[in-house]
Amino acid sequence: MSLVSRDPVLLTPGPLTTSLQTKSAMMRDWGSWDASFNAVTAKIRKQLLDIISGHETHVCVPMQGSGTFSVEAAVNTLVPRNGHMLVLINGAYGKRLARLVEMMRRKVTVFETAEDVPTTAQDVERLLAADKSITHVGLIHCETSTGILNPLADIAEVVAHHRRGLIIDAMSSFGALEINAQKIPFDAVIAASGKCIEGPPGMGFVLARKEVLEKCAGNSLSLSLDLYDQWVYMEKTTQWRFTPPTHIVVAFHEALNQFFAEGGQPARLARYTQNYETLMAGMTELGLTQFLKREIQAPIIVTINAPADAKYNFKDFYERVRDKGFILYPGKLTQAETFRVGCIGAIGQAEMRSAVNAVRDTLDEMGIRRGSKD
Ligand SMILES: *Cc1c(COP(=O)(O)O)cnc(C)c1O
Repeated sequence: MSLVSRDPVLLTPGPLTTSLQTKSAMMRDWGSWDASFNAVTAKIRKQLLDIISGHETHVCVPMQGSGTFSVEAAVNTLVPRNGHMLVLINGAYGKRLARLVEMMRRKVTVFETAEDVPTTAQDVERLLAADKSITHVGLIHCETSTGILNPLADIAEVVAHHRRGLIIDAMSSFGALEINAQKIPFDAVIAASGKCIEGPPGMGFVLARKEVLEKCAGNSLSLSLDLYDQWVYMEKTTQWRFTPPTHIVVAFHEALNQFFAEGGQPARLARYTQNYETLMAGMTELGLTQFLKREIQAPIIVTINAPADAKYNFKDFYERVRDKGFILYPGKLTQAETFRVGCIGAIGQAEMRSAVNAVRDTLDEMGIRRGSKD
């Protein structure tokens, strides 16, 4: 049977493969003013706070748009206009964060390490001690350009000790890696519907410290990306301030229900870790190696060194693997030739094994010798 007639399996960091139940939830139209829809909004706001055990300290503000809209809304609202943000960079999403801070006219300082080097708490300690004017630190938890994991808990402790605010882009880790507001101090954690919660893409959310957000009226330089106004309006009316992505919200709620039914964050991490192990066992058999050391690789998305053979080119490889039913992701590194494989989505070991088979058959078809470029 040909896989082509079915939906392909998305081995990407979002949008990703969603369950049939989640997809089916989008088959109904909802009025955005209707109480039944607003009850769904209230429910997801509560569920998202459950995930971080944040009910005592934080509030959930959903936002229309892709994940970046929520990152921009968080920075633009939570950092005062005369604030100064230190952005920790080891990949493309860190660079994007620094750029949007600058575009929101806040002062920005960057600290950049190589794409295979996590930022350390010692780095942050030194930088904060040296510059008292820094008010906020921006961190990418799992930098999706490579899949590298930055040490959130250690960095959060240093930032809190220096009494600065921490804004975390946890887009690709939220729901899979533990982020507990009772253990880790932060002003905001940002994620989106279409990543590890396995909803469709189209909305993001910010889990913001209530006592910080309360003081943020008037900070925003944007009408639509004003997290404070979105929050106040939602609290007052139970509705979204502007047209909500109704189908996405309802499907996201369905995805959250499945997330809790599966066993929440620990269960999701266990499944993704198995996906990662299955993938790498297969890739290793094909002679392909991962770009990052295992200790700093999150089981979310893996960067794989391209085959060393001159006959390899990503476009041809990608299209052949796609024709077998699997969507890979291009590499995003400036130095090395790589491709990426996502371990997230409503997929398990069977899909990962089939993906490895598709890669093996493709390499054989292309006449490519086994073995990565290192
Ligand atoms: C996916 C992602 C984003 C948001 O990207 P969008 O394309 O705007 O959804 C931001 N940061 C990280 C680390 C991501 O993985």
